[in-house]
Amino acid sequence: MGPLQCNCAIVGDPLTGKALIVDPGGDADRIMAIIEENGFNVVAVIHTHAHLDHILASAEIRRRTGAPLMVHQGDRFLWNALESQCTQFGLECPETCDPDTWLSDEQLFDCCGGVALHTPGHTPGSMSFWFESHDLLIAGDTLFQMGIGRTDIPGGDFTQIETSITERLFRLADDALVITGHGPSTSLALEKQANPFFGGIS
Ligand SMILES: [Zn+2]
Ligand SMILES: [Zn+2]
Repeated sequence: MGPLQCNCAIVGDPLTGKALIVDPGGDADRIMAIIEENGFNVVAVIHTHAHLDHILASAEIRRRTGAPLMVHQGDRFLWNALESQCTQFGLECPETCDPDTWLSDEQLFDCCGGVALHTPGHTPGSMSFWFESHDLLIAGDTLFQMGIGRTDIPGGDFTQIETSITERLFRLADDALVITGHGPSTSLALEKQANPFFGGIS
């Protein structure tokens, strides 16, 4: 979604009709069409972090669904700087609003058994979202197929991202599908084995 091609995910339960929207980075109409097509009731809009490409449509989605916006407090400075982030990329600043609640580590969601994991490094407030019963991990810009998120931008920390990935993400189920923040999905097993940053952790 959006000008920087962030992967937005919609995780929904066809039985209860409850859904989470993760990282609405743009194209609110396209997101809303999927929500309406499936008759989903959006219980929360959750963010892996507050870089502009993950939050560009957040305020509009909140207005159209009434669902609360959630982000980790460590990324408050980025959320509040949306306008200057847009200026930096030559983009028009969209509608803005404050987050409704701060996400915390191990926070449970009322949808699909999801849990939030605080995985700082790419930004101080970076979160990953883990759906154990579906073997699904949404990793934001922390882990990519054969790569990891940048840490050379304000708030980034290489030691932290390494620890987040090896101590938190690599301890989840190996066969988990990983939806990354940009580009193709991957699996934890493949990244442990072949990600050039980690070189064969078993
Ligand atoms: Zn980012
Ligand atoms: Zn991104």
